Amino acid sequence: MKRVDLVRMFTEWNLKAFDGELPIPEIRWNPRLRTTAGRFIPSRKKSIIEVADYLQEEENAELLIRDTMGHEMIHYWLWVMREPYGHNSAFHKKMEELGVSRYNPVPRHRPFKHCYVCDHCTQQIWVRKRLKAAACAACCNEHSSGKYHPQFKLRLSQENLEPVPQQNEASG
Ligand SMILES: [Zn+2]
Ligand SMILES: [Zn+2]
Repeated sequence: MKRVDLVRMFTEWNLKAFDGELPIPEIRWNPRLRTTAGRFIPSRKKSIIEVADYLQEEENAELLIRDTMGHEMIHYWLWVMREPYGHNSAFHKKMEELGVSRYNPVPRHRPFKHCYVCDHCTQQIWVRKRLKAAACAACCNEHSSGKYHPQFKLRLSQENLEPVPQQNEASG
């Protein structure tokens, strides 16, 4: 399997859409991501951008990975500027400029019935059963020494809905 060079992709977007000003974060493949194509994990030491491994097996792998990288870099860019870095209006504006998508077009497993979102880091988590009181593991690890903290409680955002599939040809 030909591995896409994530660092090179980051650098291309950085020059194309961010004036080359974004400091390079840690960039890595994540083999465990299934319902989300990528994620951004902020940290004052060194932020992390992760891309789901399985994207490499998709037909349009390179396009999908570029799209995902662009999306995560917008979160990162807002965070670097100390702005709110969720899917807000600034995010959407930049998203249109880059031509990347809002949703993961090819979740590995679907459909899960319930979608929870962490309002802090914007991660979406699809599950089969409703959760009682779950918090975002990434945020609890990052900000609460791994302990449950109600600030990072997951919020039910969608039900019985699949992530919206999108045409990737349009976004390349
Ligand atoms: Zn979170
Ligand atoms: Zn996002």
